[in-house]
Amino acid sequence: MRVLEKDYWKKIPEWKDTSRWEWEDWRWQIKNRLKSLEGIGRVIGKDLSKLKKVERVFRTGTTPYYLSLVEDFSDLENPILKQILPSCEEIDPFIQSEGNFDPFKEEILSPVPGLTHRYPDRVLFRATNFCSVYCRHCMRKRIFLEEERARTYEDYKRMFDYIRKNKNIKEVLISGGDPLTLPNRKIEFILENIQDIDHIDTVRIGTRELVVNPYRFFDEGLLEILEKNDKVWLVSHFNHPDEVTDVVKRAVKNILSTGTPVLNQTVLLRGINDDPQTIENLMRSLVKVKIKPYYLFYCDPTKGVLHFRTPIDKGIEIIEYLRGRVSGIAVPTYAVDLPGGLGKVPLQPEYIVEETEEYIIFRNFEGKTVRFNRCNFDIIENHTKNSEDLCL
Ligand SMILES: *Cc1c(COP(=O)(O)O)cnc(C)c1O
Ligand code: SF4
Repeated sequence: MRVLEKDYWKKIPEWKDTSRWEWEDWRWQIKNRLKSLEGIGRVIGKDLSKLKKVERVFRTGTTPYYLSLVEDFSDLENPILKQILPSCEEIDPFIQSEGNFDPFKEEILSPVPGLTHRYPDRVLFRATNFCSVYCRHCMRKRIFLEEERARTYEDYKRMFDYIRKNKNIKEVLISGGDPLTLPNRKIEFILENIQDIDHIDTVRIGTRELVVNPYRFFDEGLLEILEKNDKVWLVSHFNHPDEVTDVVKRAVKNILSTGTPVLNQTVLLRGINDDPQTIENLMRSLVKVKIKPYYLFYCDPTKGVLHFRTPIDKGIEIIEYLRGRVSGIAVPTYAVDLPGGLGKVPLQPEYIVEETEEYIIFRNFEGKTVRFNRCNFDIIENHTKNSEDLCL
């Protein structure tokens, strides 16, 4: 975990006069976000005008907090800067030719605008297309092309009606954009309506605010809403150990105090986290602040994002490296989301070396092998008379 200095933002000229009271207010962070290349260029002391043509297609934006985590503004390879700053590769027709704006047919598999119903028991609820940081690798990069706006109350009511009528839906995944950029009254309206539906067991909120604006969780109003709505789980999106700060730790503590578990999904990103040591550090840091690593995703084939892709085997290599080396709690499931809306598929290193009808030979993380009989008569015979029946 990264410990930030006292008044760490004051060393950046842009915010040298910003008070603690302002900086630690999530609304100040959103109101003062840098929404253009000029703004970001001014803070990092670089002329970014050659990236204008990218910004015209895919907008830019960052909170002051997230930008302040960049250790050295002159280092354009910094993993946080790379998630904020556009690159010409985003609009390179050759690199992006294989991509799609909606690879998972979220809009097509949509019974009501804003909902995607892919699995029988879960539904995705897109509450807004606004984000306080526009991540260059976003799998919903199509929202960058739209005007920033939350859905209307009328939209939400139609979405609730659909969920109410479909009793096989057990879980609602609230996503966006970023739903926690919404004001508390709107979040409360959404959560209370969903919480009241008897057949809903779980509500999952997908948010990046914990990474880019952790002060969101210093807001007593939001914490009270989480406390009241006891079906909620929170899923964050950390991609690099530099993002896991002591401010995040305080925020997680606040969230956990409301009885809300916190999970994380990481995207495997070329040039940002695609090596085993970085992912190891990230997973260790997350567990240290009590966030459970849930998924490590292979980067989706979204147009504007393809330059971040690694070979698919990279993720398997990373999981192989983690297994046995770090706590099982810290190992996420590596998964690929199949294009066309066919769902997520987990990928694992192969631990079976050989397999016949009688036995399986496993290897462990160090490469030691063990032979297991599929039906272990020797052991069972010593314990029960009818062992053969058990093994039929
Ligand atoms: C990822 C996703 C889910 C949730 O999948 P889990 O494996 O339960 O995390 C549900 N619906 C859609 C449309 C999704 O993309
Ligand atoms: S916060 Fe999430 S939805 Fe918003 S740009 Fe980043 S990855 Fe995309």
